[in-house]
Amino acid sequence: MQAMVFTAPGKDLCLTDLPKPVPGPKQVLLRVSHCGVCRTDLHIVDGELAEAKLPLIPGHQIVGTVTETGAEVATFTLGERLGVPWLGWTCDECKFCLTGRENLCDRAGFTGYHFDGGYAEYTVADERFCFPIPSDFPDLQAAPLLCAGLIGYRSLVMAGDAERLGFYGFGSAAHILVQVARHQGRRVYAFTRPNDVSGREFALKLGAQWAGSSDRTAPVPLDAAIIFAPAGELVPLALRAVAKGGVVVCAGIHMSDIPSFPYSILWEERSVKSVANLTRRDAAEFLALAPKIPIRTEVQQFPLASANEALSHLREGKIRGSAVLAIEKEINLQLRN
Ligand SMILES: [Zn+2]
Ligand SMILES: [Zn+2]
Repeated sequence: MQAMVFTAPGKDLCLTDLPKPVPGPKQVLLRVSHCGVCRTDLHIVDGELAEAKLPLIPGHQIVGTVTETGAEVATFTLGERLGVPWLGWTCDECKFCLTGRENLCDRAGFTGYHFDGGYAEYTVADERFCFPIPSDFPDLQAAPLLCAGLIGYRSLVMAGDAERLGFYGFGSAAHILVQVARHQGRRVYAFTRPNDVSGREFALKLGAQWAGSSDRTAPVPLDAAIIFAPAGELVPLALRAVAKGGVVVCAGIHMSDIPSFPYSILWEERSVKSVANLTRRDAAEFLALAPKIPIRTEVQQFPLASANEALSHLREGKIRGSAVLAIEKEINLQLRN
């Protein structure tokens, strides 16, 4: 099979011919149709997340079809369309797993980080961490739901019942979450980089109440803020924007250092928290909610061999909505030629 392989930080992914993986007893083999490109993938290839297995096939927003099942697979059968997210394995026995916090499992394994992921024509996944894709979603549109949607949804839950919600950074996750927030009757105030005029237009088009540059003051005191951008300097800005008792949720896996700030902007029971990974419960809740809204993802497609280009577009802020590798389409084209 063809795969895009990561070998060392700072080096381009390399298109490589590899043997098709063989599913373990509890794993399914999936023919990958589409795989979303996430900012976490960028942190991995840039060497900002240091635990990646090497060599590695990145990608943790996988949509594919079951083509083989391990001997002990009980839940899924051949031909089923499944999604595979970031959380790829948990121990089911540590104190976090036993208290509904498997996202914090001591021995958690992550797709496209500890295990090979979806930048490939085939991948294997533990059946416990595969989810049927709602039928209303084409594969291309479904891929960004699996991380941007899922972990974004967990961040939104952590923001509590805040009605006036600030989003800092308006990329893949925010463009999905603004739709969820509106559906729940909340108002979204979108902050983007000062020069990102089209990001602000995009936010308003998707239903944000207001959009402005991140160096501007919010037009109203916010009840909560979610920071999607990996920029630590946004934390004090967001703390200044939230009202008494407000929470600032940091939604990414990596962030640049947070500058020091006066205690007065944290005072009055404001809080800062981070969101780590996802649970299977988050996935079940979010994938049930997505077709009811219904969420419409805006997607920019790239062929598998152009994964490096997709990553650099993401790094440069050039992606409107989500970047997705269209892999099966590429196989079809090859067959036709
Ligand atoms: Zn555990
Ligand atoms: Zn992700």
